[in-house]
Amino acid sequence: MGEQQIRLRFAPSPTGPFHIGGARSALFNWLLARKYGGKLVLRIEDTDLERSSRESEENIKEALKWLGIDWDEGIDVGGDYGPYRQTERLPLYADYTTRLLETGQAYYCYCSEDELEAERQELMAKGEMPRYLGRCRSLSDADRVKYEAEGRKPVVRFRVPENKEIIINDLVRGTVSFDSAGIGDFVIVKSDGIPVYNYAVVLDDALMSITHVIRAEEHLSNTPRQILIYEALGLSTPKFGHISLILGADRSKMSKRHGATAVEQYRSLGYLPEAVVNFLALLGWSPSGEQEIFSAAELIAEFSVERLAKNPAVFDIDKLNWINAHYIRKASPETVLELALPHLEAAGFVQTPLAPEKRTWLTEVVATVQEYISYAAQVVDHSAIFFADKVELENEAAKEVLLDPDLSKVMAVFCAKLMALETLDEAGVQAILKSITKELKLGGKKVYMPIRVALTGQVHGPDLQRIIVLLGKERVIDRLEGTMKEVVL
Ligand code: GLU
Repeated sequence: MGEQQIRLRFAPSPTGPFHIGGARSALFNWLLARKYGGKLVLRIEDTDLERSSRESEENIKEALKWLGIDWDEGIDVGGDYGPYRQTERLPLYADYTTRLLETGQAYYCYCSEDELEAERQELMAKGEMPRYLGRCRSLSDADRVKYEAEGRKPVVRFRVPENKEIIINDLVRGTVSFDSAGIGDFVIVKSDGIPVYNYAVVLDDALMSITHVIRAEEHLSNTPRQILIYEALGLSTPKFGHISLILGADRSKMSKRHGATAVEQYRSLGYLPEAVVNFLALLGWSPSGEQEIFSAAELIAEFSVERLAKNPAVFDIDKLNWINAHYIRKASPETVLELALPHLEAAGFVQTPLAPEKRTWLTEVVATVQEYISYAAQVVDHSAIFFADKVELENEAAKEVLLDPDLSKVMAVFCAKLMALETLDEAGVQAILKSITKELKLGGKKVYMPIRVALTGQVHGPDLQRIIVLLGKERVIDRLEGTMKEVVL
């Protein structure tokens, strides 16, 4: 890499939610393009007319933009090799199909679905690999006329050369070889005239002068078919690199069963794009040192094809949470609030639009809990203590704290001092708490703990002074009184 201007592409099929695996492929191609001063092309592979949608395409673009992955050519931005949507390239493909048909490297096949199915069953019954055996390989003109007269609509099949070894020098997997005997003549254009992926992808990569195809491992088995087409048309092949599968924690292929698989889900839970990029980069690639937190710029500098792993990558949500927590702690409370807001609203804690004072107060609440969360939606659980009307004791340990014989005394003195406090701030509250320990000759814990539990129901949590300031005098007194009443009952 590096000697010529490299041209990479990300070529998603817009057929559903944008999967994190797709985002990882996009990221790896982007990192390489940026590292070597190359170009990244965004091409839409929408030849599956039934499953493709513009909505999904929009979704992919949005997700890429969110992740900070930009493209130099492709949909929206244009370029010299357009159009960049396969359904807009049909005439281009048709020219090549004519060439393949004329040279006999492809042929029309009139077999019906039923006939093909019967052939598959027969082969499987014999323990052989199901494949097309070539019934229409050498049809006479008369046969064709007869089939056409029957109203059969032909597909175009590629004539796979016999006994050919196809060798791929994969950038990740090394040398992989396939025998053409295992590949039956395959369909390249369906009966409706739409090319299949394996055919369109070759023409696009060739016509767009793509130098490197970095994509998911599941496409490795498609590659020999693609190489045969390159060869048949005398087109030069790009370099291929097939990046490892992504597995769930149980080592089976990552799927919905393992939790969120769509980029959008992470985005709406309040993960930060820098964190997702950082995490995805480590899925199937390893840096040379111990460093795990990388900015995009550092990734561009550090990324290399040589360190792409052959072994499957395991999607470890704890690691993503750890990385995200790191970026959340560095983010401004305003940013985290923005991400948490839909969740706070859904929980019924706030209503938008927020009044300016409410926003200021919420920002402080977020600043208080920010260090305890992994992603923004968790602000809800951690900030519930600021919204609840009634204190719920979280466990036995919390109940125990409130059985302390000095409880009423501590509460009474604290409430009186709090009422008398002129400006409510953390230093003032701290001074009150200290003075109570002195006056009542109690250890700090005997003062702080019951107040914390009576206010929040929890034995752990953010700084007590801060909680008190954020709740305000009135709510503090109300809560303490409420809890005391329940304890006495
Ligand atoms: N459209 C294919 C996919 O989304 C891309 C395959 C490729 O990169 O060649 O899986």
